[in-house]
This record gives sequence, C-alpha cells and structure tokens, in this order.
Amino acid sequence: MKLSKKLEKALNKQVAMEYEAAYKYNGMRIYLDDFGVPGATHWMTLQTKEEIQHAEDFIQFIKSLDGQVELAGIQAETTKYDGIASVWEAGLAHEKEITKSIEEILALAIKEKNYAAENFLRTYVDEQVEEEENFRDVLQLFELAGKDKAAMFQVDSYLGQRGQE
Ligand code: MG
Repeated sequence: MKLSKKLEKALNKQVAMEYEAAYKYNGMRIYLDDFGVPGATHWMTLQTKEEIQHAEDFIQFIKSLDGQVELAGIQAETTKYDGIASVWEAGLAHEKEITKSIEEILALAIKEKNYAAENFLRTYVDEQVEEEENFRDVLQLFELAGKDKAAMFQVDSYLGQRGQE
C-alpha cells in the first residue's frame, strides 16, 4: 500500500503538530516547576514525553508505507501562564485542535481508500478521546480545589501518581 503525496503531506504535518504539543507542554512543565507543584510537574513531564512518542509513531507509520518523512519547523512556545487551571485550559484547547487535525487526515484516508492509514488513524481517534478526557479531568480537579491550599496539595499529590503509559 502506497501513500499519496497528499496523505504523506498531511501525516508529516501531524508529526510537526505532535512535536509542537511536546514543545508546548514542556513550556507548561517549566511553568509548573517554577510554581512549585511537583505532582503537576511530573504529570506534564510524562505528557511531554508521550507527545514525542506520538510524533515518533507517525514517523514510523510514514516510513512503513515507504513515505518520505519531513520535519517542518515548529513555533516558539510560552513558559508563562496565569495560574494552574489556565495551564490545563490551554492544554485541553490544544488537544481539541489535534483531534480536529486527526479527524481531517482520517477523512482523507477514507476518501483515498487507504485502509492502512485509516486503521492507524482510528487508533488516534481513540487516543484523542482519552487525551481530551485526561486534560478535562485535571482541569475539573483544579477548579474544584480553587484557592483551597489543602485541596490543591491533594490534587498535586494525586497527579504525582501518574505512571508512564
Ligand atoms: Mg498527541
């Protein structure tokens, strides 16, 4: 099964998007580290690594269909946020953009009847449901904790328990 140029381009764009996510989350990790929340910092460190893994996964997929991998430039990212909840708000918004991008590539794969790409991308549709849910859950916990320091400490401890996926 071959990759069309159009699909190859879209998949390469997704590689850059996954690296962009890693870069963005690394900015968040740096902010959280300065903020003094070790559990949240740990959570975001793992999330950053996971995005690099996603990029690698897309690279391997392009290569497995004998496509040409291209690493596009990625944009600068901030290390400044307006409080902890705003970090996960921005993260959730970013995951929604990634979901939209994956759905668009999947639609292209279906249109082109590239079943291998379709199968691969469908696993990422599932992955995105999980990612959005994860960001939404943490955001809700921080919103619930509000300015209550004891509750905030508990949420941070909980996030520190996240394991590598
Ligand atoms: Mg990702």
